[in-house]
Amino acid sequence: MTKRLAILGSTGSIGTSTLKVVSAHSERLSVTGLVAGSRGDALAAQARSYAPSWLYAATPEALAGQELPPHCRVLSSQDELVAAVCADDVDIVLCAIVGTAGLRPVLEAIKAGKDIALASKEILVMAGALVTAAAAKSGSRILPVDSEHCAIFQCLDQHPRHELKRIILTASGGPFHSRPELDLSRVSVDQALAHPTWSMGRKITIDSATLMNKGLELIEAGWLFGLPEDRIEVVIHPQSIIHSMVEFRDNSILAQMGYPDMALPIQYCLTYPERLPCPVQAMDFSKSLQLSFTPPDNARFPALTLARHTMRAGGAMGAVFNAANEVAVERFCQREIPFSRITEIVAKTMGACANAQGNDLAEILTADQQARIYAVTA
Ligand code: NAD
Ligand code: MG
Repeated sequence: MTKRLAILGSTGSIGTSTLKVVSAHSERLSVTGLVAGSRGDALAAQARSYAPSWLYAATPEALAGQELPPHCRVLSSQDELVAAVCADDVDIVLCAIVGTAGLRPVLEAIKAGKDIALASKEILVMAGALVTAAAAKSGSRILPVDSEHCAIFQCLDQHPRHELKRIILTASGGPFHSRPELDLSRVSVDQALAHPTWSMGRKITIDSATLMNKGLELIEAGWLFGLPEDRIEVVIHPQSIIHSMVEFRDNSILAQMGYPDMALPIQYCLTYPERLPCPVQAMDFSKSLQLSFTPPDNARFPALTLARHTMRAGGAMGAVFNAANEVAVERFCQREIPFSRITEIVAKTMGACANAQGNDLAEILTADQQARIYAVTA
């Protein structure tokens, strides 16, 4: 039987890798719906190749004049999108929208009991308590696409939770961690976009350079695996071969490894619990391979300290942390602020919005807005 997918963010880096996985397993996976932001030409081309039942573009004009396959419905509102992802012809929703626009459709799909393959870490960072509570209630499974979390998910497997001691997230360190001679107030946008091991969208690539991506992933791991910050360690592993590790109470560590290619975690989530052949390169041990591990430089890169503070604070602090970072990254990309100010702006915004409440979705969205307004001029 085929698994029917709704892919949110289908034209991005994760979205296009997802469609490659669908092509490799067309007897198992099919596409019911595709969602993108403004790239109507790319979305329409995907629709012609994968024949979904529906399409949604956040900027509806983007699809004007595009040639679409017959019987493909173009949705015209968020409400229609929510109804479509919750409908009977969707088995799993893969969310890879950059930012927080995927929150509402994902939350509603969870309430409807759909399985979620989650790449958009922002959703858990912003609203982890609501999302995990909704999943516990409906029985929906949240399968982590993020490579580190997918690695942990694979290593944990069927082991009982009381045997788990801690998890160890690996981080490439981005282009700057291994270069202490660089002045971080002077590095350029192009230098920050030159990631040494992974090819990804623009926002997450900048987040890797600040280590904010690992900060977001610490918070994401806390929600996915139900752990406090002091049971999650981060280690710099520049080769990005070990995707993360789990330590059990006997001090045995299990790691998941492979070349950096998101097709593997995407496919694992889409075919879970089965493993199928995957269109990624197999490890080649006929060539020598060195793996190294160093502790993160928290003085030069404050992102992890800020993320740990966010986890201890709880409430709406995740939403504030994420929103402030999104604004600061955009300001850096517009060449309005130096690189080193990104984490400074996040820290300042967290201080200014420390009293924001996060008991329900409305409060979380308010905190997100407050943080954005503050961070634009911070
Ligand atoms: P990307 O920028 O390449 O793609 C983003 C996608 O979101 C595009 O399809 C875009 O059209 C769509 N989009 C943007 N705004 C939208 C809106 N308002 N409504 C609907 N669609 C919208 O980003 P990416 O690198 O593919 O990352 C996507 C998500 O996956 C991010 O949350 C990122 O943190 C996470 N992630 C990415 C990677 C990676 O290797 N790229 C790895 C782990 C996690
Ligand atoms: Mg990751």
